[in-house]
Amino acid sequence: MKRLAGKRVAVIGMARSGMAAVELVLRHGASALAIDQRSAGQLGDAAPRLQSWGVALRPQTAESLRDAELVVLSPGVPVDIPELEEARGRGLPVIGELELASWFLQGPVIGITGSNGKTTTTALTGHILREGGVPVQVGGNIGTPPAAMIDASRPEQWNVLELSSFQLETIREFRARVSVVLNVTPDHLDRHHTFEHYAAAKRRLLETQTADDFAVLNADDVTCVDYGASTKARPVWFSSTRPVTPGLFLEGGRIYLDDEPLIEAAEVPLRGVHNLENVMAASAAARIAGGSRGAIAAAIRTFPGVEHRLEFVREIGGVAYYNDSKATNVDATHKALDAFPGGLWVILGGKDKGSDYTALREPLRRKARAVLLIGAAASKIAEHLNGAAPVIRCGTIDEAVRRAARAAVPGEVVLLAPACASFDQFDSFEHRGRVFKELVNRL
Ligand code: ADP
Repeated sequence: MKRLAGKRVAVIGMARSGMAAVELVLRHGASALAIDQRSAGQLGDAAPRLQSWGVALRPQTAESLRDAELVVLSPGVPVDIPELEEARGRGLPVIGELELASWFLQGPVIGITGSNGKTTTTALTGHILREGGVPVQVGGNIGTPPAAMIDASRPEQWNVLELSSFQLETIREFRARVSVVLNVTPDHLDRHHTFEHYAAAKRRLLETQTADDFAVLNADDVTCVDYGASTKARPVWFSSTRPVTPGLFLEGGRIYLDDEPLIEAAEVPLRGVHNLENVMAASAAARIAGGSRGAIAAAIRTFPGVEHRLEFVREIGGVAYYNDSKATNVDATHKALDAFPGGLWVILGGKDKGSDYTALREPLRRKARAVLLIGAAASKIAEHLNGAAPVIRCGTIDEAVRRAARAAVPGEVVLLAPACASFDQFDSFEHRGRVFKELVNRL
């Protein structure tokens, strides 16, 4: 299968990763078929690029796969789409862009997954290694697809990859020298159907590892503990609640690495215990990759954070505004609420992902001055909150920002942490976060 030459490879999903996969396939002497649900007109500049490479665009049907010898899926394409059923029945191999790229990528991999915190931890791990002089490139879901990282890869250079469960589901030979699992909480159940299936997809990351590899795992997460019991890799733990070894833990406001103090929690520029967990996970991976203690601590202090993740926007008249548009699920919103002592005006809502919002009742009761509801999920959220905090129905984010700004008093915080997807009113969570910041900056 590694010899692509002469093969006819179908790539499904013509976004960034799919396009990178097509390029890779062509460069290795194979022919490519590009498949997408969208028509050429809807594909934007992908369509003329495919045309310039002489690659045909086919609709997403079983028929389009009839002459393929290998199928490569973009990270956004579910492995169980009906169009693939017949191909599978014929024994046609179906892999993800990650697996394909791993056949050619040089250098060891740090593979980072989890329900929440992947992007932050990936960016921070890259930052620590770079600042510490360890050769590194960063990619995966955070930006550059693995297939587009191959040219710049070198045997002695680390590849830090943000990985989603969708990509991990189809790995065969892809192997991480260091795997990192931050947490496994119910998310994307619309895609994976059951929690067990979702947890099994993430577990693939550890299943291809060997006794020479390392698994950085959250000791406070039952699924991670379960992974640790079954992997061949050497576990390195992190915990925000109790001492663990080998690994990192938080105790008395200080982070310890292998029982020696590493850094004071107060020196970490990111808010919230969840971010201390991300810091511990990134530090564990960086340590394994050769970062020194001193370099790790120094780099943590200079980490600028990632846009839309509990991002401080501005303070106006003593009221602070935070953009956590990336809080697209209940757990992430819970963590955002945990990061503040109280006095919160919380903007919630958007496109529901089949979530249970009752878990937000308790923290909102204790910390929220009010909940400002926007988007399609507003009624469901109001019902689930059942009076835990005063609810203001705003409809749109403009209205929510206006109402919050009018009502908040000095010392309070306006927090966008919507617990929902953005697609009912925005193109993406980035779009939602940018709109929020613009509104705040115009106040
Ligand atoms: P991902 O890439 O996994 O979506 P991000 O770093 O983009 O993760 O953060 C997504 C959201 O989850 C943010 O809103 C953030 O507040 C929250 N979050 C970040 N790290 C954690 C964590 N370790 N545990 C729980 N929630 C987290």
